[in-house]
Amino acid sequence: MENPKRYLVTAALPYANGPVHIGHLAGCYIPADIYVRYLRAQKRDVKFVGGSDEHGVPITIRAMKEGITPQQVVDKFHSIIKASMTQMGISFDIYSRTSNKVHHETASAFFKKMYDDGLFEEKETEQFYDEKARTFLADRYITGTCPVCGNPNAYGDQCEKCGSTLSPEQLIDPRSTLSDAVPVKRKTKHWYFPLQNYEPWLKTWILEGHTEWKNNVFGQCKSWLDNGLQSRAMTRDSNWGIKVPLPDAEGKVLYVWFDAPIGYISATKELTEQWADYWCQEDTKLVHFIGKDNIVFHCIIFPAMLKAHGGFVLPDNVPANEFLNIEGEKVSTSRNWAVWVNEYVKDFPGCEDVLRYVLCANAPETKDNDFTWKDFQDRNNSELVNIFGNFVNRTWVLMHKLCGGKVPKLHEDILDEKDKILIEEIQTAKVKIEKNIEEFKFRDALFEVIDLSRKGNKYMQEKEPWIVAKQLAENPLAQKSIDNCLHLCLQLTANLAIFINPFLPTTATKMLGMMKVVDKMLDWNNAGKIKLLSIGYSLREPQLLFRKIEDAEIAAQVQKLKSGLVKTTEQKMEETKQPAEVQPASNLKPEIVYDDFDKIDLKVGTIVTAEKVEKADKLLKLQIDLGFEVRTVVSGIALHYQPEAIVGKQVVVVANLAPRKMRGIESNGMILMSEDKAGKLHFVSPESITDNGSGVK
Ligand SMILES: [Zn+2]
Repeated sequence: MENPKRYLVTAALPYANGPVHIGHLAGCYIPADIYVRYLRAQKRDVKFVGGSDEHGVPITIRAMKEGITPQQVVDKFHSIIKASMTQMGISFDIYSRTSNKVHHETASAFFKKMYDDGLFEEKETEQFYDEKARTFLADRYITGTCPVCGNPNAYGDQCEKCGSTLSPEQLIDPRSTLSDAVPVKRKTKHWYFPLQNYEPWLKTWILEGHTEWKNNVFGQCKSWLDNGLQSRAMTRDSNWGIKVPLPDAEGKVLYVWFDAPIGYISATKELTEQWADYWCQEDTKLVHFIGKDNIVFHCIIFPAMLKAHGGFVLPDNVPANEFLNIEGEKVSTSRNWAVWVNEYVKDFPGCEDVLRYVLCANAPETKDNDFTWKDFQDRNNSELVNIFGNFVNRTWVLMHKLCGGKVPKLHEDILDEKDKILIEEIQTAKVKIEKNIEEFKFRDALFEVIDLSRKGNKYMQEKEPWIVAKQLAENPLAQKSIDNCLHLCLQLTANLAIFINPFLPTTATKMLGMMKVVDKMLDWNNAGKIKLLSIGYSLREPQLLFRKIEDAEIAAQVQKLKSGLVKTTEQKMEETKQPAEVQPASNLKPEIVYDDFDKIDLKVGTIVTAEKVEKADKLLKLQIDLGFEVRTVVSGIALHYQPEAIVGKQVVVVANLAPRKMRGIESNGMILMSEDKAGKLHFVSPESITDNGSGVK
């Protein structure tokens, strides 16, 4: 949408059944917050709404297991989640909750209008029921023996051991996870939303009208639409949730995925009396930030609901991210394999911006990505401390030493080529950062900010004001040269504060303090200008923006993660009353078929050159001869091999891997390495020398 009059930005409603982890932050809260802070700096009209999703079966089950009420469960986690959001600087205009009265009324009215318009199908079906716990059972809450592999703890929807998709009927000896009772079938009536009626419209709206959506989002929508849509029940049997507003609907509530997205509307109502401007005016740009598991609900079901109800705007974009894995494994809350935000802020006080930085620089924007504590440390120490922080600190120290703590003059008469290039770089960076943010490419935008500070370091290194200072007696232009260098470095710092602000707001505020200027300087309007700090203005003493993160802190986090895993595995064994030896620890990934393997193109190649990558102590930049071409590959092996020792070595390369930029260098492939128990890496090489370019099967 070109030049919308106002923006409404939403971030997925976290489920109030546990705290949030860094996968949630990386998936939608940090990207949404960056986008919103950028729009606010642009002085555009924007509202950022969110809240806790507090209904659904898992909450009632948790309450039952802990012997408390569902309300107590959601009260506890809503306040933990809300505090985590505030601590991480996620700047919602309102963070509400779906148990609020206004939401119950809004969702209820929404359902009633659709019902009155005759948009639901009423169907009676048979469903499994737990007579002891007196509740209907979702498939997930029925366990039994897997008919495929014999796993005694398969779920009613899936066997986690062999991966088979199941239905409760297929389980041998099924029982309820709530009471251990044998489930029985009971008749129940529900209201179904016939999604297939909206299929032609959805096809036109998405597949023709929104080709600009991210590939992962567009692809998932296309696959749903190609497979054909079906009626979906919009009500459930439960006593926890929004009561179905019809007579004869005792014990029935709205399906949580019917009511939750309406929560965005309710939250906007709570926020402003002008809520209808944001929801009902065509010139509003509505953007939903979510994780990939929510794509179908935000791109297909909710828009179909909005369309069916009528009178609301539809999302203009849904920039969903993929998943963030931790140390090479999928996040699992049941195994406690996660980095919890409420624990991070305690373990790393004052380092909220570091986490924001790492989760954006390594965001799973186009594919699943991996978070490792080592990478967290490397990015902090080499990028934030050594590049960005170092540039700002050097500028401040030298300005105090060589210019009396004041903004020096800019002598236009002696501006040289390097000065002019730096000024141009600031302006170019602005254009690139804007374009990337508007296209939801936050990683690339952040890279440009860091790259600009890297250019500042290079400029200062070339101008060497501390050397020029030794020539003050004999060289009449020396002071002018120093002035120009530091003047431009200070103006660059002011620009960096504007550029970093959407990403690392606390850091930007610290920089404002050093410059003794007010928030207004951060207006995006000011970006690219080199007259932000007035000549002669005196500035404060430097303040360290980032601190180094030590090996011991990282080791402690890895230990914490692994011990959490052990503990919950023990608890699980306790629960399932399985002797330990029955469950061997396996680190195998899920089974694949040959076709999956066949997609990988492995080739033998010879390393022809190897060199260290500046400021990245793990990385080597390699040129590899693949027979048909010589490729640049960046490889994280610098801690294990000296560059000179591996030239001439034959290795196996994943030759059809999508290119990836690492520290500004495009890497075109990956070398196969084997990692031993001690974490040491070993090359996987042909047993005898062979032709470069030979395939590996
Ligand atoms: Zn199985």
